[in-house]
Amino acid sequence: MIDSNHLFDITIIGGGPVGIFAAYYAGMRKADVQLIESLPELGGQVATLYPEKQIYDVAGFSGISGAQLTEHLINQLTLFQPTLQLSTAVKRITPQVDGTFVLETTKGTTKTKGVIVAVGNGAFTPRKLAVDYDPAWENHYIHYFAKELNQFKDQTVAVAGGGDSAIEWALMLEKIAKQVYLIHRRDQFRGLESSVEALKHSTVQIKTPFLIDSLTEINQQLALTLNKMRSTEQEQLTIDKLLVNYGFISDTRILRDWGLTLEHHQVAVTQQMATNIPNIYAIGDIASYPGKVKLIASGFGEAPIAVTELLTNLYPEKRQPLHSTSIM
Ligand SMILES: Cc1cc2nc3c(=O)[nH]c(=O)nc-3n(C[C@H](O)[C@H](O)[C@H](O)COP(=O)(O)OP(=O)(O)OC[C@H]3O[C@@H](n4cnc5c(N)ncnc54)[C@H](O)[C@@H]3O)c2cc1C
Repeated sequence: MIDSNHLFDITIIGGGPVGIFAAYYAGMRKADVQLIESLPELGGQVATLYPEKQIYDVAGFSGISGAQLTEHLINQLTLFQPTLQLSTAVKRITPQVDGTFVLETTKGTTKTKGVIVAVGNGAFTPRKLAVDYDPAWENHYIHYFAKELNQFKDQTVAVAGGGDSAIEWALMLEKIAKQVYLIHRRDQFRGLESSVEALKHSTVQIKTPFLIDSLTEINQQLALTLNKMRSTEQEQLTIDKLLVNYGFISDTRILRDWGLTLEHHQVAVTQQMATNIPNIYAIGDIASYPGKVKLIASGFGEAPIAVTELLTNLYPEKRQPLHSTSIM
């Protein structure tokens, strides 16, 4: 059960990469920290959506898988033993007259002097195929997450989507699958130039501009009917697995109930990562400011800013150290 009596200095809501690093950093700054995560495991999108994908843009690693990065972050976090609440979702934040907050969670209430919101895309669910299919095909023929790459080994796989992730998945799967198709309804891909270039030099067969019209099960395979856009032309494709990457629908409605000012479903923050409510900060994918890029690296930079600002507000009499060697 959650601790209802203890008053924490900082409660971080969301145990994705950014929330984990913020909890570690706040622990290093000797704050009394609590980290609350709604899923049973830490790691957020990195652990849930792409544990086996390589990440190439985290400082210090020329390439690291989502699972490895999560493991490193958790190892670092345990150095300061913050209070960890897994499988616990924060439902409401109620400011108190003394400036502290009571958080209502799915496992009871808890008290804190400051809050750092690191909920990423909120409760996220994949955007589904807009085609009728037997729900039993999900996780068998149709996948929305490529969690275990091995299930695609030596299979004929179609990836549907035109963004970075779809291209990355197609390129990753190319290494282990028998054949990979990439289906996109536009001629142009929205992915990074380097990924699109890599795609051109790969064995991935590109099917553009096509949209999936219907799915049928035939001899333990999936037959796709593809409609060519702005045409009556159709193509058939028989595959073992379909990996749909149409992005994610995030549910950030809860943030409105928390009284936070939103900008396009993200929390508007200042340069100090401060929200409109004193002592509530927001970092990572959920934070919005001019020039924001939704990357792990940006979130890692935002965490020390929020922690330092919050601790300065809570303990103005204390000089806040800057370099880790002067704290450890
Ligand atoms: C397929 C894919 C590939 C990507 N590749 C890269 C890449 O190569 N490089 C890169 O830098 N970025 C990449 N990203 C983006 C990166 O994953 C995000 O920028 C990063 O995960 C943001 O971290 P976060 O901690 O802010 O949020 P998240 O990772 O979304 O974590 C937020 C956590 O908060 C929890 N939560 C939500 N609501 C509540 C609540 N009410 N109470 C308690 N907990 C809550 C969620 O369960 C979740 O665990 C990729 C994203 C995707 C989808």
